[in-house]
Amino acid sequence: MLKNKEQERLALEFSQGWSYAPAPESTDHVQLQERYSLFIDGKFVAPSSKKYFPTVNPATEQVIAEVAEAGKKDVDKAVKAARKAYDEVWSKMPASERGKYIFRIARLIQERAREFAVIESMDGGKPIRESRDVDIPLAANHFFYYAGWADKLSYAFPNRRPRPVGVAGQIIPWNFPLLMAAWKLAPALATGNTVVLKPAETTPLTALKLAELIRDSGLPPGVVNIVTGAGATGAALVSHPDVDKIAFTGSTEVGKMIQRAVAGTNKKVTLELGGKAANIIFEDAPLDQAVEGIVNGIYFNQGHVCCAGSRLFVQESVAHTVVRKLKDRLKTLIVGDPLDKNTDVGAINSAGQLKTIRDYIALGKSEGAEFYESPCALPQAGYWCRPTLFTGVSQSHRIAQEEIFGPVLSIQTFRTVSEVIDKANNTPYGLSAGIWTDKGSKIFNLGQQMRAGVVWANTYNKFDPTSPFGGYKESGFGREGGLQGLAPYLQFD
Ligand code: ADP
Repeated sequence: MLKNKEQERLALEFSQGWSYAPAPESTDHVQLQERYSLFIDGKFVAPSSKKYFPTVNPATEQVIAEVAEAGKKDVDKAVKAARKAYDEVWSKMPASERGKYIFRIARLIQERAREFAVIESMDGGKPIRESRDVDIPLAANHFFYYAGWADKLSYAFPNRRPRPVGVAGQIIPWNFPLLMAAWKLAPALATGNTVVLKPAETTPLTALKLAELIRDSGLPPGVVNIVTGAGATGAALVSHPDVDKIAFTGSTEVGKMIQRAVAGTNKKVTLELGGKAANIIFEDAPLDQAVEGIVNGIYFNQGHVCCAGSRLFVQESVAHTVVRKLKDRLKTLIVGDPLDKNTDVGAINSAGQLKTIRDYIALGKSEGAEFYESPCALPQAGYWCRPTLFTGVSQSHRIAQEEIFGPVLSIQTFRTVSEVIDKANNTPYGLSAGIWTDKGSKIFNLGQQMRAGVVWANTYNKFDPTSPFGGYKESGFGREGGLQGLAPYLQFD
C-alpha cells in the first residue's frame, strides 16, 4: 500500500504528464573526517577551547561531522600566524610568485570540483546542479581571475603605489560557502595580504576542504588560516587589535554590530549585507523568459541569496497572465533531495532559517496578502519549504520590506515607469534589481535611476569574477569582484 502522500505525489506527476526517475549524485568519492580541527599556520590543530560542534545535513538532519569551535585564544593564534607569514614571507615575495600559488589553488579546485560540489550540497542543502554548475566553477574562476592581477597592480592603479593592508579577517555566510570564501580569499591574496577566514557555523565543510587543498598546494604556512565557530568566534576576529581589515558578508544586523565594534580603530571595513531586490516586468517583456527569470531570481538556492529577486513588480496589463504562468511553473518545480540531479529546489539551510521563513509566511497571510504555494510533496525528514508567492501585496506590508531569505515571492503591480521606480527604491536595501522589457531605452532609464549596486536586464542572478558586486544603503559598502574588488585590500600613498 502506498502512503497517502506518495499517492498524492504520483497523482500530481501523472496529471502533469511526466515523472523523473531519481538521479542521485554518488557520494562514494567524497572523503570527510568525523572531526575537523582548526587550520592555523599550515596545520590542522585542536582548539584550545577543546569545544566542537556538529554540522548537520539539512536534507536528512543527520550529523555529517564535528567541527572545532575557536575561542579567543585560537583566534589570537591564527592572527599571529597570519602576521608572521605577512611580515616574513608573503609581503616579501615577488608578486608574480604570489600569483602562481593562486593559480595553483584555482587548478586544484577544478580538479576536485566534483567532491566540493557534493560536500556543498550535503552541508548546505543546495541542489547539486547549482553547486556543480555555479558555485564551484565560479569559485575556481575567482582564483583564476585574481591570480592574473597579482603582478599587475600598478597597472590597475597607475601612479598610486598600491601596497597591501596586512592581515585581513574575513567572515562569510552560509548561502554560498565556497564561493564566498573565494570572493574573500582571492583578492586578499593577490594584493599581498594574509588572511584569517571564518566560515558560517552551519556550512564549514567546504572551507575546511579548501584548507586541505591549500595545505596541499604548498602555500606558505600562515598565509591562509581558517577558524570555525559561530558569532563569538567572528566577534573575536573583528575585535582583535592586530587585524588590519575586516571583510564581512552576512546579515545587516551583524554588519551594524561589526561597524560599531571597529568604530574608532584603524581597521578598514567592507560589508556586503542584506537585500530586497525588485524584479520589474514590463508589458513589452518576453513573458515566458521573464517568468523563468523570476523563478531563477527567487527560488534559486531556496531564496538564500542576498540579491534574490524577492519583490516582483508586474505592469498591471500583464499581471494576470504573469501570475498564471508563474503558478503553472511553480507546479513543475522539483523540490527534494539536493543530491538528485533533477532537483530544482533543495533543503532550507537550517531549522532556525526554516522557522524564520515560516514566521514570515504566517505574517504575510495575517497582513492580508493572498498566498499560493507549489502543491509538491515534501520529504519526511529535513528542512523544507515549498516555493511560495503572495499576490495583493502592498508597499507597507512587512513581507515587501524585510529580507526573508527563503523561497517567498511578494508580487505588486504598477502602471507607470515613475511609479515603479519610486516603489522599487522604497526600501532600506539596495543590492540588486532586475528589469524585463523589449526596449533598450527603458533599461537605460531605469538602470540609471535604480538605487541598487547591480542591475540585471532581461536576465537575473548572473555572476562573473570580472564584474563588481556590492550595495547601496543598508546593503553595505565596498565592492567585491572585478578591478574594484582589489581596492579594499590595498592602501595607497
Ligand atoms: P545570516 O543571517 O546570513 O546567518 P549572520 O550575519 O548571522 O548571517 O552570519 C554571517 C556570519 O557572521 C557567520 O559566519 C556568523 O557566524 C558571523 N557572525 C555572527 N555574529 C557575529 C558577530 N557578532 N561578530 C562577527 N561575526 C558574527
